[in-house]
Amino acid sequence: MIISKQLRKPQLVLIVDDQEINRDVLGMILEDDYEILYACNGREALDMIREYSDRLSVVLLDLIMPEMDGFEVLSRVRADEFLRRIPMIVLTAERSAELKALQMGAADFITKPFDMHEVILARVSRIIELSEGRQLISAAEHDPLTNLYSRNFFFEYANRIHRYHSVWQMDAVVLNIEQFHSVNALNGREFGDNALRVLGEEIKTFLSGTKGIASRFDADRFDIYCAPQPDYRALLDRFQERMNTLSRNANIRLRMGVAPWREDVEPMQLFDRASAACSMVRGDYKTRLMVYDEDMREREILNQRLLNDLRRAVEERELRVYYQPKYNVQCDPPRLSSAEALIRWQHPDLGMVSPGAFIPLFESNGQINVVDNFVWSEAARQIARWKEQFGVTVPVSVNLSRVDVFDPALEETLTGLVEANGLERSSLKLEVTESAYTENAGQMIGRISRLRELGFEIEMDDFGSGYSSLNMLKEVPVDRIKLDLRFLSGKGDMQRGHVIVSHVIQMIASLRMDLIAEGVETEQQALFLQEHGCSCMQGFHFYKPMDVESFEKIVAS
Ligand code: C2E
Ligand code: MG
Ligand code: MG
Repeated sequence: MIISKQLRKPQLVLIVDDQEINRDVLGMILEDDYEILYACNGREALDMIREYSDRLSVVLLDLIMPEMDGFEVLSRVRADEFLRRIPMIVLTAERSAELKALQMGAADFITKPFDMHEVILARVSRIIELSEGRQLISAAEHDPLTNLYSRNFFFEYANRIHRYHSVWQMDAVVLNIEQFHSVNALNGREFGDNALRVLGEEIKTFLSGTKGIASRFDADRFDIYCAPQPDYRALLDRFQERMNTLSRNANIRLRMGVAPWREDVEPMQLFDRASAACSMVRGDYKTRLMVYDEDMREREILNQRLLNDLRRAVEERELRVYYQPKYNVQCDPPRLSSAEALIRWQHPDLGMVSPGAFIPLFESNGQINVVDNFVWSEAARQIARWKEQFGVTVPVSVNLSRVDVFDPALEETLTGLVEANGLERSSLKLEVTESAYTENAGQMIGRISRLRELGFEIEMDDFGSGYSSLNMLKEVPVDRIKLDLRFLSGKGDMQRGHVIVSHVIQMIASLRMDLIAEGVETEQQALFLQEHGCSCMQGFHFYKPMDVESFEKIVAS
């Protein structure tokens, strides 16, 4: 017992009384259990409270004192945001003062002359316990960095507002910092923390005097539940301007998603919508504000439908694999060298659904492996069938989603498929999109290396379309780069585009990697690429993706 008492850092108690005898008596009662500080008037007491504010567990405060009385101390401590957590027990001989002190926020009182020692000890320890418990709750209620609500409490309060004050009609606003991890990486964590704190302050200022509430979670996401604003762009600009004052070089960019109030939508769902709107802003530097609208609602309904229908689609064979030829243009005429397998969904009500509409959806919901496993096994069966039918191996590349890379059974599935169909591993090629490498470089490199050791060939898909990093090319073990020519379309200087392409071709060749150009749409593009030494191409200029029967005609010809 004694040891544990000595080891524990004793709680600190401040005794404030102008009468020495009172200080002595209280000190004697408490000294075995607490560390004690003394002050003999209000002014001294306030100084000590400030100095020891982070350690003080309780203050025992006489009310009638010279210089500054206990009431004044009490009211100043209660008015201070940082000091008010410290509980104050007043020491008094007058019943009337007791009530006033309690009304002013005193936690309890001890009457003079002093009671039995045990009673005083019990009161002090109970008040400390109570206040520590309250602080624990308040800590969980707030995010320590910004002092905004933590997520659970935020939704608890938002739900109450929605349930009991539906006339308030609150909108959901999600605010996010673009590429916050690079803000941290470039300027240091301290700078990043400060940016979050400052943004939290600005949000608090915006909400002050209103019924609105706010929360921070996931590092850089701020949720704001507020009365509908006449101009959300102005609000975003206000927050952005505050961020701009932090540092001219840091280039912190905010984006905002808004979901307008609807009576039938609970706060949680409303914030999902605001968050969906916010994530649609990603990467687009001009429209950094997105308001959830009817189109997005329809999209949400469609998504729900696709998610529900996937299982049936597999069973009823609504999913089809299309093949797009890849050509070797070194021969004249160009020769079919392989194909890419691309999924299509022939939906009974919605018609042909393209992968762009459902691949990202299934990726985020974890069902992508259903689609991919289907495509991989179809492709493997098809290679075997063509070998039998035409006597040649037409290699097929299949797409691996960024999510597949985390599937522990990936190697087993793929090797199982090639073995079951009697194929060389190199005839089932694997395309992994460029952005997947940047997201999880370490894990990705490990996985890809193992697949290559097993004999699979890896193609880096969509090179040039995302945030490619040259450093990545140094590290990532791939066999072939798929240069996506679609970055040439749209705005921008064509001449520059051509310079870039020609240099990328050279660079890839010097790195001794193979190159294939995808998205080749015109004769000029094909000629340009060929002139600069790119020998393998895929794109509408040759063929669009097609069903098996059409593809077989090309193989047979
Ligand atoms: P990707 O892997 O880069 O596939 C090439 C996409 O470009 C295909 O779109 C193809 O139809 C299109 N394309 C080909 N040539 C041209 C051209 O000359 N011009 C233009 N504008 N487009 C061209 P698709 O089939 O709509 O697929 C889109 C994306 O969906 C694919 O991009 C791939 O990332 C993903 N995807 C398709 N099938 C699968 C699959 O089975 N599994 C996974 N995980 N993703 C798939
Ligand atoms: Mg691909
Ligand atoms: Mg591609």
